[in-house]
Amino acid sequence: MQGEKTQKGTKGRVYCANCSHCVVFKQPIESTDAYVLRVRCSMGKWKKKSGDEKIYKYFSIIRRVLEHCDSYDPMGDEKSFLKELRKNLPIKDEIYSYSSAHVREIESEQG
Ligand code: SF4
Repeated sequence: MQGEKTQKGTKGRVYCANCSHCVVFKQPIESTDAYVLRVRCSMGKWKKKSGDEKIYKYFSIIRRVLEHCDSYDPMGDEKSFLKELRKNLPIKDEIYSYSSAHVREIESEQG
């Protein structure tokens, strides 16, 4: 369901994945040449109860849905974007290597 765009954000459900402020980044795994993909809100909207910033695993970003966000900035047609994203997102967390194309899945649900 697509949110109705207003002057400030939206009314209705919004998918963070379709927002320009939802940023994917590489999080290095200490003492290795590997990294995992994580996402953050560059507007600082995702918070833990402690007040610290919350980041999410890349593969789970499609589940980040809000009823409203006053900073939502859609990157395009939500329906087609989400359809493509669902096709291309990994189904589990994965470890990538900086030095090779090797990828493996992470079994735990940490982070
Ligand atoms: S600005 Fe709002 S809609 Fe955009 S990523 Fe942050 S929380 Fe999600």
